[in-house]
Amino acid sequence: MKDVARVIVTYDCPRNCPNCCNEHIGDVPEVKFEDLLKYKELVITGGEPMMIGARVVEMIHRLRQRRYKGRIWLYTAELNVKRWPDKAILQVVDGFTYTLHYEYSQRDITLLNRLTDHLGEIDTTKMNNRLLIDSRLSSESFWTELKLDNWNSAKLLVWKDDKCPLPGNEELIFYDLERE
Ligand code: SF4
Repeated sequence: MKDVARVIVTYDCPRNCPNCCNEHIGDVPEVKFEDLLKYKELVITGGEPMMIGARVVEMIHRLRQRRYKGRIWLYTAELNVKRWPDKAILQVVDGFTYTLHYEYSQRDITLLNRLTDHLGEIDTTKMNNRLLIDSRLSSESFWTELKLDNWNSAKLLVWKDDKCPLPGNEELIFYDLERE
């Protein structure tokens, strides 16, 4: 078993990114809640985990109630801080990676700017937040509207078509949070 689990909590996603990693990953072993406790760190991903944001918040509380001490990270492309689970999740994760994907909408820009403002209003000293923007968007006009302050890092993401390699210390697992 590796130190870090990248945990798919749902395969559902409202987006349809070309070459989504989930098209190439094959069979992912499904685990039970107890198995999550064995890893040193957890990276929550999907699909889009925040489609079931309330369940993700509840799952993290459950992990902490079971005295899980490892760091917990979130990968998402959808945080609407007007919704309570999306605000609450920022209080319970150690950090998150937010991605602006290739096929974006004006709503995505609005949500991103709202999130950036929110990060400026809350205590982020113990939270690592990272913004990735698909590098194919580098010539888009929205850059003048973007607010990039309040992020620990903001980088262009070079999409590697059908290759979605995991870091060497991570393994991919599926925990079916929707079925719970
Ligand atoms: S947002 Fe992520 S999970 Fe959803 S389609 Fe795009 S790459 Fe796939």
